[in-house]
Amino acid sequence: MAPSSRPGSITGGCLCGAVRFTIIFPKDAEWPPSLNGTCQCTMCRKHTGSILPQNCAFPTANISPPLKENPAYKIYKSSSFAYRGFCGTCGSSLTFNYDKEQEQTEINLGVIDEDILCGKRDETSAWDDEHGHHVPRVGGLGREICSAVQHIYMENAILGVTDDLPGNKWLTDRTEGKSFTRKPFDFKKGA
Ligand SMILES: [Zn+2]
Ligand SMILES: [Zn+2]
Repeated sequence: MAPSSRPGSITGGCLCGAVRFTIIFPKDAEWPPSLNGTCQCTMCRKHTGSILPQNCAFPTANISPPLKENPAYKIYKSSSFAYRGFCGTCGSSLTFNYDKEQEQTEINLGVIDEDILCGKRDETSAWDDEHGHHVPRVGGLGREICSAVQHIYMENAILGVTDDLPGNKWLTDRTEGKSFTRKPFDFKKGA
């Protein structure tokens, strides 16, 4: 990745805007961020409403202002070891934290701002054709931020929809069993 793509910071927030935040990348911060992955566990699916939830961990200290200082930011204790954050006004699903790793906050990547994920719309270069209005995008860091290479809870993959992902996969979490790169449904008992 060209060093020039490295941002000083990126921004995100919930659907209604009550929760807004900036993720700062100090000079020593990892770029692109590597703690990036999908999780198809039922809790992540229920909380995000997505069949393929994806998030990325950032140092909590680099998220400004601190989410917990925002009265609209609410948390739900989803298990004995973790909690999830959301906007109490619009309901956007925002974060995941382990109780024991408060220094890391996993941000659901869909809440990163559109200009950051897709690039800024360049209306001066736009054109229309039979497909509609094409607006070229300038910049955008979605590929760097969202290239997930680890996928957990592949035991819940949906055949033909969420099973064929590039990178390392685990049947459940990363602490249980060896990872694999093939599709989870290619394994057969006794083969
Ligand atoms: Zn909101
Ligand atoms: Zn999960």
